[in-house]
Amino acid sequence: MTDKDKHIDLSVENYGNIKEQTYSYAVLPWGATEPHNSHLPYLTDCILAHDIAVEAVSKAWSQYGVKGMVLPAIPLGAQNPGQIELPFCIHARQETQKLVLSDIVESLYIQGIRILVIMNGHGGNNFKPMIRDLALDYPDMLIVNCDWFAVESRKGYFDEEFDDHAGEQETSAIMHFRPELVNLDTAGDGSSRPFNIDSLNEKVGWVPRNWAKTSFDTGVGNPKKSTAEKGKIYVAVVTDKIAKLFDELVNKTIY
Ligand SMILES: [Zn+2]
Repeated sequence: MTDKDKHIDLSVENYGNIKEQTYSYAVLPWGATEPHNSHLPYLTDCILAHDIAVEAVSKAWSQYGVKGMVLPAIPLGAQNPGQIELPFCIHARQETQKLVLSDIVESLYIQGIRILVIMNGHGGNNFKPMIRDLALDYPDMLIVNCDWFAVESRKGYFDEEFDDHAGEQETSAIMHFRPELVNLDTAGDGSSRPFNIDSLNEKVGWVPRNWAKTSFDTGVGNPKKSTAEKGKIYVAVVTDKIAKLFDELVNKTIY
């Protein structure tokens, strides 16, 4: 059975196919609209969150028999100073993100869905405070955050030790899913400048990095050694783990 026959991706699905089915959870891919070095699409964080969600939901069905639906990706991400000045980079405030999430949760709740997993593809997003608030409003609904890029360590899968934004991890993953969207020849080397203050580099204190001063090509991390094969191997491990999460959320109580 192909992913299409499973009717798990709302971006391409129709009501005729899904009206007879029962879904026990929903997955909300959430990314950003921002430059990703010179070689990846602005919607990279949405595309990867979506494609990883579809692969994981597909596996959860094949391997565990639990059925979920992947919702359309939300392109509203939180951006750092120094990014918002870049052409067509869109900053979404926490309040905006919370209103969007609240509307989606309310709609799903009315429809009887009680498990929602946010598949986050953007490091600047932070849904935890919103999920805490929504847990008060919807005590019988389970809302779960999953940062797909942090599910599995990069160690052993990629060559570059340092990788943060549009580097080897994201580039390899998108080369696996959507090779037609990547031209590695046009990529900058993703070199970056640390803070002038040691304590900030040592993470004693935190401030948002000014992206224009940190990065020279909007990337942080060198993508040049990326390959589709590395992406495929890494993504397979990540989606195995996320499929298991879906199964456990559906079939177990959390305590
Ligand atoms: Zn990204």
